[in-house]
Amino acid sequence: MKNRQWLLARRPSGPIQDSDFNFVETDAPTPGAGEVLVRTLMLSCDPTQRRWIAFDTYLPAVKIGEVVRSGGAGRIEMSNNSDFKVGDIVVGLVGWQDYVAMNPKDQLNKLPPGAPLELAMSALSMNGITAYFGLLEVGRPVAGETVVVSGAAGATGSVAGQIAKIKGCHVIGIAGGAEKCRWLTDEAGFDAAIDYKSEDVQARLKELCPKGIDIFFDNVGGDILDAALAQLAMRGRVVLCGAIANYNATDWPPPGPKNYLNLLLKRGRMEGFSVYDYMPRAAEARGALAGWVHAGKIKYLVDVQHGLENAPATLRRLFDGRNEGKQLLRVAE
Ligand code: NAP
Repeated sequence: MKNRQWLLARRPSGPIQDSDFNFVETDAPTPGAGEVLVRTLMLSCDPTQRRWIAFDTYLPAVKIGEVVRSGGAGRIEMSNNSDFKVGDIVVGLVGWQDYVAMNPKDQLNKLPPGAPLELAMSALSMNGITAYFGLLEVGRPVAGETVVVSGAAGATGSVAGQIAKIKGCHVIGIAGGAEKCRWLTDEAGFDAAIDYKSEDVQARLKELCPKGIDIFFDNVGGDILDAALAQLAMRGRVVLCGAIANYNATDWPPPGPKNYLNLLLKRGRMEGFSVYDYMPRAAEARGALAGWVHAGKIKYLVDVQHGLENAPATLRRLFDGRNEGKQLLRVAE
C-alpha cells in the first residue's frame, strides 16, 4: 500500500504556497504493538494549521520534514489494539497523509456506528465545542443581550451565533459577501448580518446595536475587533476565539487593538480561551449540539473539496473566505 504524504518544506511567509510543502510517496506504515493503521477518509481544514506550521502554539510547531498536522477522520484498516477493530471509524490528528499508524491513546476517538461523518466533522466537531464553551462559559450570555459574531458564516462562528439565538439573544453576524450574509439571516436565524467587504462595519454596528454590544465573539481580530470594541456596552465581554485576519501576517506580532481603552470605560472584559481546556467536557457540548441540530435549531454547512493532492489549496480557501461553512477535504470514500 502506497502512502502519499505532505511534508513541511519550510515555514511559510504570508499566505501559504504549495512550495511550502513537499508531496511525497512512501510505503504505508505497519502498526506496532497496541497501534492501529488508519486510512484517512476526510481531513478537517482549520485556520490554526497555519499557526502550527509557523511556530510553537499550544502544540509544538510542526518540524521541517514532518507530515503536516491535521485533524481528520479515518477507518481502521489493521488493529493491534483490542479496543479498536477493523472498520471502526475514528477521528484524531491523522495528518496530511493516506495512512497513519497511531496508538489510540494519542487522542484517537471512535465515532458511533452510522454517525454522519460531515456532521461529526462540523457542528459536532472541535468547532461546535469551541462555539459552545466560548459563548456559554466565556461570554456568559443573558437573554435579551446583543451578541455580535465575526467570522459568522464559518464553522465556529455560525454555531456560536445560533447558540446565542437559542439563549434568547439578539444576534448580529459579520461575514464576507452578500451570499454568506443572506445565509446567516435567512437560514441560520441571525437577526442581522454585516458584509464587512462592502459595508462600513463600525457605522453598521452603531446602527444595529444602539445600546452597545454585550458580547463580541471574535474569530477575526484586526479592524473588525477594533470596530466592535468601539461599540461595547457597559460590562461588555469580548470572547477572544481567534484572529484569522492576522494569521498570515509577515510582521509578527501584529499590532494590538487601538480601541482597547473602551474596556476600561465600559468596565468590559476581554478573555481568550482554548477549546483544549474544555475537552474533558466535550461530551456535554456534543450532546447539547446534537440535540439542537436534531431539533433544527442549529443549521450547518459543509464545503467538501476532494483529493489529498489539493490539501494546501484547500487550506488556503479559509484565508480568502472561499469556504462555505466547515472546510473539509475528502481523501478516500
Ligand atoms: P471558518 O470560520 O470556517 O473559516 C475561516 C473564515 O475566516 C473564512 O471563511 C473567512 O470568512 C474568514 N476570514 C478569513 N480571512 C479573513 C480576514 N482577513 N478578515 C475577516 N475574515 C476573514 O474557520 P473556523 O475553523 O471556524 O475558525 C474560525 C476562528 O476560530 C479562527 O480564528 C480559529 O483560529 C478560531 N478557533 C479557535 C479555537 C479556540 O480554541 N480558541 C478553536 C477553533 C477555532 P469570510 O468569508 O466571512 O471572510
